[in-house]
Amino acid sequence: MKCDVLTIFPDIFDSYLNESIIKRARANNLLDVTLFNIRDFSSDPHRTVDDSPFGGGAGMVFKPEPIFRAMDFLREDGEPRRVILLTPQGRPFSQSIAEDYSKEQKRFVFICGRYEGIDERVKTLADEEISIGDYVLTGGELAALVIIDAVTRLIPGALGDERSVEDESFSWGLLDYPHYTRPREFRGLSVPQVLVSGDHKEIDNWRRKEALKKTVKVRPDLIAKVKLTELDRRILSEIQALSDEEA
Ligand code: SAM
Repeated sequence: MKCDVLTIFPDIFDSYLNESIIKRARANNLLDVTLFNIRDFSSDPHRTVDDSPFGGGAGMVFKPEPIFRAMDFLREDGEPRRVILLTPQGRPFSQSIAEDYSKEQKRFVFICGRYEGIDERVKTLADEEISIGDYVLTGGELAALVIIDAVTRLIPGALGDERSVEDESFSWGLLDYPHYTRPREFRGLSVPQVLVSGDHKEIDNWRRKEALKKTVKVRPDLIAKVKLTELDRRILSEIQALSDEEA
């Protein structure tokens, strides 16, 4: 993944981009992030990037000019780019968008807003508007990092073991199954017997059942989108029968 980030707070990115999997992905040229301070593209001596809103109201609004100038500068190299405007009004980010982005050949541009938001005309620069959830953040920087992180772990070679990605929540459309590690007994809580049985078929069935159980309980909306196998249907009827008994 190659990306340019337009922000007025480039320092926010330093710590996150220099730790763990993200740091290693950058070192291995799987991830390339270039940060641009939008203030560097302001044409006034005070490096102003905001102004009060037409029509009145609270807060300040990002001026269009510095962002348009930043985009003009980026486009000088002629490299094709996919421009993402981060906004709570955008398409909700998801694992399937992360998968789409992980296969993208174009360089990304993430435009991070602040204040009350960005002058509406900046939208004409963007290929799409993305939100990371139904809540309002103070700025788009965390949203850009969330997307960069979720996409990076899908790039082949970024994780130590590629199976980590295959088994995770949402990869099969379901939430992940429970995980345990040593010790087998901890403060009276024990690891389910099946996981230490050595029977891999039983372990797979147990994991699928637990993933289905968790998804039905916490995110029933996801079940409707999953391609269920015959075994899944059987497990779901068992889960239903159990909850009918408990009711
Ligand atoms: N007034 C705007 C509204 O109600 O839609 C919110 C502006 S917010 C305080 C400032 C900036 O944070 C936005 O321009 C956007 O870049 C970013 N932001 C806030 N919440 C976000 C979210 N859920 N997803 C993506 N970006 C977000």
